[in-house]
Formats: sequence, C-alpha cells, structure tokens
Amino acid sequence: MVSRRLQSTLLPMAEAQSADKILQDAFQAFCASVQQSASPGGLRISPPLSEYEQRNFAAAVQEGLVEIDESGNARGPLMNSDQGSQVSRALFSYQPPPLRLCRETVSLLSAAAGLILESGWPANQIEIKPSPENADLTNNVDILIKSTDGQLLAAGVVKRRSHELEKLARDLRQCGNRGRHSFDNCGFPQNHSTYEFCATHRPPYVWAVTPDSEICFRMEYGDNAAFDFQEFNSLPPRSLLELI
Ligand SMILES: [Zn+2]
Repeated sequence: MVSRRLQSTLLPMAEAQSADKILQDAFQAFCASVQQSASPGGLRISPPLSEYEQRNFAAAVQEGLVEIDESGNARGPLMNSDQGSQVSRALFSYQPPPLRLCRETVSLLSAAAGLILESGWPANQIEIKPSPENADLTNNVDILIKSTDGQLLAAGVVKRRSHELEKLARDLRQCGNRGRHSFDNCGFPQNHSTYEFCATHRPPYVWAVTPDSEICFRMEYGDNAAFDFQEFNSLPPRSLLELI
C-alpha cells in the first residue's frame, strides 16, 4: 500500500494555545454541562494528537473556522453544508459511559482545516458531513471536496489507525470489483457504505486519512455500480483536482 505520513507546512505557533489545551478546556466545560466530574487526569487523548493535528486543529480554532460550544459540539464556518445549514460534530461523549473524546472528530476537523489552511482550498468548497445517525455505524464519507460550481471532486474518509487505510483499500476493491450488491449480501460491512457512496455519487477521487497518514484512490467507474482504482500516497494538489 502507498500511504504516507501527513506533514504539516504550518509554522509552529509558539504563543498560541495548544490543541491539547483547547481540548482539555473544552472537556472541562463539557463535563460541567452534563453535570459529571472529569477524571483526575483530565481528558485522555488516544492515540495522541499528531503534529499535523496539533497544528491544524489549533489553527482552525484560532482562525475561527471551528467554534466549540459548551456542550462540546464543534460548529462554525468549516461545518457549513451545501444546504446552507450548520452541521455540528460532537467532540465528546458520555453515553454510554465513560466520558471520552470522540477521537475521529479531531482528525476530521484537522484534515478539513488542513485542506483550507495548507492546501489553499476555499472554505466553501469543503463540506463536512453530519455524524452517522447510529453511533455503531461508520459514516460512508466524512468530507466532500467540491469544485467552484459544486461538482464533487473528492470524498474524504476518516479512520482511526493506519491499518484501517489498508483495510479500506482491500474492502473497496472487493466491493467495487463485484459491482452492485447490498449491505446484507456483503462480506465487508465496515466499508460497504463507502462503496455505496462511490457507486452512487462517483467521486473522481477518494481520500482517506488517519491522525498522521493519508492515502488517495483515483477512481475508474464501470457499469453496474462497479469500479476499480489506482492508489496514490496523497491527495493531488488543488490545481490538478480542479482540472477534472
Ligand atoms: Zn460491499
């Protein structure tokens, strides 16, 4: 597999508030709002924030792309949907216990902020999808990257660990090579919903990220909801994607 480490080109922010501190403070406010006491050690962040997340999450908050309300929900310009409504994503959860960080939300916000702050995408061409309705389900995709006239250029998927990128590539290839089939009749339930999204919406690229790595697929669609793809180690630059 050809994934690579996500590398930040943002300069260190010596005097700025760190991403860890932002999350710890937001967690204290969240605990107060749900009338529960935080554990003495504070918020546990596992896996630890990568350098890419540290820079981009903190920058997103400081630039006002993301606002965290006292209920621990992330909102703000980064979360606008194409219907103009505001999407929010929970940063913390307490049901079922224990109180915890929704770790993927930090990766998602960092990846979306990185597209804007490091790769030069206008914020109105980046859309974060709402959370999955059922907490047991993974989203089909988490981020949409669109052209200036609203065409889908790439679909982004957030995973927790690098080995899940390998599994996504294997599963998508199996589902894609098979063509049209249902969730009930699929041996790859963890990623079948991403297959369904691709078969229906046909994004030219699929981009998948973890806290510190990324992989990209250039899609080739066939008949009967079948597809194949080439693997690349990163999302192409905006100048190339917008030529599609
Ligand atoms: Zn499938």
